[in-house]
Amino acid sequence: MDPATALPCDPADLKAGATPTLLDLAPAEWGRHPLLAEEPPFRARQVREWVFGAGVTDPLRMTNLPEGLRRRLADDGAVTPLAIEREHLSADGARKFLFRTRDEHGVETVLIPAGDRRTLCVSSQVGCAMGCLFCASGLAGFTRNLTAGEMVAQVVMANGAASPAGRVNRVVMMGMGEPLLNYANLLSAMRLFTAEEGCGLGARRITVSTVGIPARIRDLADAGLGVHLALSLHAPTAALREKIIPPARRVPLDELMEAIRYYFEKSGREVLIEYILLAGVNDSEDEAQALARLVKRYRATVNLIPANPVVGLPYRPPAGDAIARFQREVRRRGIRCTVRRRRGDDVSAACGQLAGG
Ligand code: SAH
Repeated sequence: MDPATALPCDPADLKAGATPTLLDLAPAEWGRHPLLAEEPPFRARQVREWVFGAGVTDPLRMTNLPEGLRRRLADDGAVTPLAIEREHLSADGARKFLFRTRDEHGVETVLIPAGDRRTLCVSSQVGCAMGCLFCASGLAGFTRNLTAGEMVAQVVMANGAASPAGRVNRVVMMGMGEPLLNYANLLSAMRLFTAEEGCGLGARRITVSTVGIPARIRDLADAGLGVHLALSLHAPTAALREKIIPPARRVPLDELMEAIRYYFEKSGREVLIEYILLAGVNDSEDEAQALARLVKRYRATVNLIPANPVVGLPYRPPAGDAIARFQREVRRRGIRCTVRRRRGDDVSAACGQLAGG
């Protein structure tokens, strides 16, 4: 599909009666927006350059537009479906944005600088329907899918807010929500992340993380975007997985792992297996060995995520050198295994702590 026309705004996901913003439309369609349709065609291109080139979404700052047009775009809120409500800067440099949607929901996004990497952790839904026992995002249940425009707006607006620190150069779909349960919008958003006339990111710089929806994993492989896939496995056996991820009961582990194999074979991209370490739950030596045995059959790297505390939930990360021991056990069996560095926890921006403000 031509990425320039790949962003169908899904009316069901927009606030009833609201006009779509420019970011809800494919870039090639911007000239057809009611406020630009009467303007010369180059105006749409100028606006596009401000938005995708400079991360500027406030029309009043688009200095090469005539003042009347700037005002009309601003009064209509015509550019972006999100507003930045708050920013929190962590002592470690991570930056959490709280966005507000036009229908007044909170969406959180985290910018994580590390060397020359500026990774943006993007949300795909308001709330989450999965109810993983250890995660804050599902505590208040599921509210709605984000539109493609709302996902793209997180990147554009982080670009605007982050300068001069530099533009986002990696996107991980690891914010609130289960991206593969918002599949059509996710695909549209990813086409805009990668499009030259959009965010211009390489597909290799995008990672989709999923709790594991086999049919959608296969669809994503077939879509051929070339993005990376991460699976939140979190347990080496079906029984333990079902205890901490209740919806896993409906997904046989074999079927899930076969979908992972399919993704690797089809895309050539090694899959990342995420494994949260919950003290006393899934962090024993036996579990490390079982994990290594399971993963050995696939081309994958294990990424251990020491549990981040969530208010009201009882889970804790393993103490002392238990994390290093678990990692050693997995590595001894020839599996690549890394430990994710905790970032942004002082402002509740770490994995599993995003709850929409
Ligand atoms: N729904 C997708 C995207 C969320 S990504 C998925 O499940 O993959 C967020 C990652 O953080 C997931 O791997 C999730 O399981 C993990 N996570 C959730 N709660 C956490 C916590 N309290 N501490 C550490 N990681 C957590």
